[in-house]
Amino acid sequence: MPELPVSELLELDRRHVWHPYGPMPGRVEPLVVESASGVRLRTSAGELVDGMSSWWSAIHGYNHPVLNEAAAGQLGRMSHVMFGGLTHEPAVRLAKHLVDMSPDGLEHVFLADSGSVSVEVAAKMCLQYWRSLGRAGKQRLLTWRGGYHGDTWQPMSVCDPEGGMHDLWTGVLPRQVFADAPPAEYEESYADRLRELIERHADELAAVIVEPVVQGAGGMRFHSPAYLRVLREACDAHDVLLVFDEIATGFGRTGALFAAEHAAVTPDVMCVGKALTGGYLTMAATLCTARVADGISRGEVPVLAHGPTFMGNPLAAAVACASIELLLGQDWQSEVKRIEAGLMEGLAPARELPGVRDVRVLGAIGVVQLDHEVDMKAATEAAAREGVWLRPFRDLVYTMPPYVTGDADVARIARAVCAAAGEG
Ligand code: PLP
Repeated sequence: MPELPVSELLELDRRHVWHPYGPMPGRVEPLVVESASGVRLRTSAGELVDGMSSWWSAIHGYNHPVLNEAAAGQLGRMSHVMFGGLTHEPAVRLAKHLVDMSPDGLEHVFLADSGSVSVEVAAKMCLQYWRSLGRAGKQRLLTWRGGYHGDTWQPMSVCDPEGGMHDLWTGVLPRQVFADAPPAEYEESYADRLRELIERHADELAAVIVEPVVQGAGGMRFHSPAYLRVLREACDAHDVLLVFDEIATGFGRTGALFAAEHAAVTPDVMCVGKALTGGYLTMAATLCTARVADGISRGEVPVLAHGPTFMGNPLAAAVACASIELLLGQDWQSEVKRIEAGLMEGLAPARELPGVRDVRVLGAIGVVQLDHEVDMKAATEAAAREGVWLRPFRDLVYTMPPYVTGDADVARIARAVCAAAGEG
């Protein structure tokens, strides 16, 4: 365990350290993690199989020799260097990888330092594109309810307005346009409403931004990919850009490399993050088409005015390249399908539990939705008793394990989800 006694470490943590969506001083005692390897976390509550992939990111598991080697090799050469006026091979190779693997037509890459920043950049690109073309009235975003796009300003403005996450800022955030959350199955009447809303607001819309196929932190909802085609057609018809936020869904999680592929649609702008570095380091990216970049270049201010200190960080970029090569160099589709089958079988018993509203599985994502707010402490402890780390929230107990999770551990995670749903 750590050098500090666990009790002392927790007391210092409580007094000094903010946790996500946490109060200060802290009220909930976190587990202390000493190390992580493969799919296992060594914690103050014992060894736990990770059912969360550290919020969708650690797709190859922890302490992976290939990623370790990439990090160590790059560390010996250059851990960081400014990106203004300088460039380097890890960033250029990463950009090339992203362009090659993403839907056809996405050609330019902005390397951001977190998912939220990549969404900020996406919004900036779209707003600036229309300004550059002399249509400065097109400055709003349309999204559907139930979404989550991050915790900085523009992303917060397109999160679910009733999700409770950012209620404090209602009225202060940019005023965006909201459609209802998309139904799971394709409904022509919903598609018509989407089309109508885009047409009605076209003069003020810079872009539509959505999470394709899976709405993650806003409610773990799945919807028909056919809606993405509806959005593409309506955006094209009414001069609105289309942004896909693939930060949670990218790199194979839904069974396709990017969720956009389920609909064979190319967005104008695409955000990726989370699994980009296999969960090792913080990095995200915003990709755009030549049309968007050319439009920006034609403006009065022909540059994209964004350039964070850690932009293009070579260490993160080198690990991201290694993670992508590792993913593409294996039959990842079969691994995700195997996990999907394991979760379908293992989560089926949850349907019979009292208080369970829905059970759904897609790719390496398994969700049990309750008809009540989950008791997070009871549910987390129930999962830990099964030897699994889960982080339920709202009315959801869910898992998105690393793709390297073996069958026995997938079954164990599914048992833990059922136990957490039963006790939470
Ligand atoms: N967009 C989506 C779809 C996400 O799931 C998240 C994070 O959960 C974000 C954006 C924000 O990314 P980050 O937490 O890296 O800022």
